[in-house]
Amino acid sequence: MGKDGFRCVECNEKAPELHRDYSNGILKITICESCQKPVDKYIEYDPVIILIDAILCKTQAFRHILFNTSLNIQWKLCVFCLLCEAYLRWSLLHGTEQSSDPADIIRYTKEWEFYGMFGLAALELSAFCVAVLLFLMVVVGGLQGATLDLRLLLRALLLSCYGKVLLIPAVIWEHDHSPLCLGLIKMFVLTSNSQAIRVILNSSRRLSLLAVCVGLLSETCVAQASEKLLWSAQDILTFD
Ligand SMILES: [Zn+2]
Repeated sequence: MGKDGFRCVECNEKAPELHRDYSNGILKITICESCQKPVDKYIEYDPVIILIDAILCKTQAFRHILFNTSLNIQWKLCVFCLLCEAYLRWSLLHGTEQSSDPADIIRYTKEWEFYGMFGLAALELSAFCVAVLLFLMVVVGGLQGATLDLRLLLRALLLSCYGKVLLIPAVIWEHDHSPLCLGLIKMFVLTSNSQAIRVILNSSRRLSLLAVCVGLLSETCVAQASEKLLWSAQDILTFD
């Protein structure tokens, strides 16, 4: 991190450092010049406490993770979440189709269906991110004239999708998940997304919620369109 690369987790003011290392082995937490509180109290905290505060969507915890750490696992996390989502969709697809024909079971094991689901999940996530970023570029960059760090925003969006990891229990206990449970996971991920946008832009809650809604709309449209495309492709294949 360069000079002023850090932020005070309490007031969002820029700070040159989080702590000062004195040569005799004494570390002292930097106090924010603006609010007179520690710049980042979380550097002393256990990662579990930070995670709990992030789950509770606390602004301070989000500022700590997004500004004051160099956590760079967003792409790995993204692929991992997409794999979980793909497997869940793939198993749901087969759970609804009841067939006693053994040939069908062989057909179901075809890997390309799983990769297809992975591709679809990736496409929907891309549609979400692109729509959110475009919306923010127009509203914040265009209308308000502020500069947007798209790389930082994308990292925040991908990292705040960590709630999708909750799909793992749904994957493990394949038949125990309900639409309500999946809906709650979706709500949690969207709330985290909204909080991440709010923290990065230091904007109002309304703007970040609006951006997430635009993203969700785009994601739903892409999902509907690809579903229709798949159905028509399936129709053509079965007619042959
Ligand atoms: Zn401060």
